[in-house]
Amino acid sequence: PPFPIQLSGPVQRGFGRGGKDLGCPTANLPDESLPAMSTVTKTGVYYGFAQITPRANADHALSKEETSVLPMVMSLGWNPFYKNERMTAEIHILHEFKSDFYGYDMKALVLGYIRPELDYTSREALVDDINMDKQVALNSLDRPAYQTYTSDPFFASNT
Ligand code: ADP
Ligand code: MG
Repeated sequence: PPFPIQLSGPVQRGFGRGGKDLGCPTANLPDESLPAMSTVTKTGVYYGFAQITPRANADHALSKEETSVLPMVMSLGWNPFYKNERMTAEIHILHEFKSDFYGYDMKALVLGYIRPELDYTSREALVDDINMDKQVALNSLDRPAYQTYTSDPFFASNT
């Protein structure tokens, strides 16, 4: 099995579409970080852990909790901007952040697949599914075998 898959890079600005309106902001990873996903390429929703790398002298510092290893859901899709020849990965971290963290380094450990991409006829159906994805992610990541990944050497120690 291909998991765990390691992704990392500075958080990019997206088109600001949807994310925050749907109560589900998604932090974009740079294109250069995505070849690691070529072992799966299946589009859809994944789950795992993510960490925003703590940074000294930032204009707005993140709290210790905000830079800990946190559960995440990730949407992987083909990017229409690149004629669907490149993928995009967007990560929603299951934590309430006090501020944005564009430009911060983000690390993600992808641990499993939840579901394929679906077409939604209503916004409610989409939001319902996102909430279900979050629940699936939390339930899975709660298991001891997955909890050990929170102290994986891939993540920065934050003590
Ligand atoms: P964009 O199109 O720029 O990705 P979004 O509406 O999807 O816009 O918002 C994403 C941004 O929101 C992230 O880059 C990050 O700075 C911020 N953000 C705040 N809270 C979260 C969170 N829990 N998960 C992911 N991003 C978050
Ligand atoms: Mg986004």
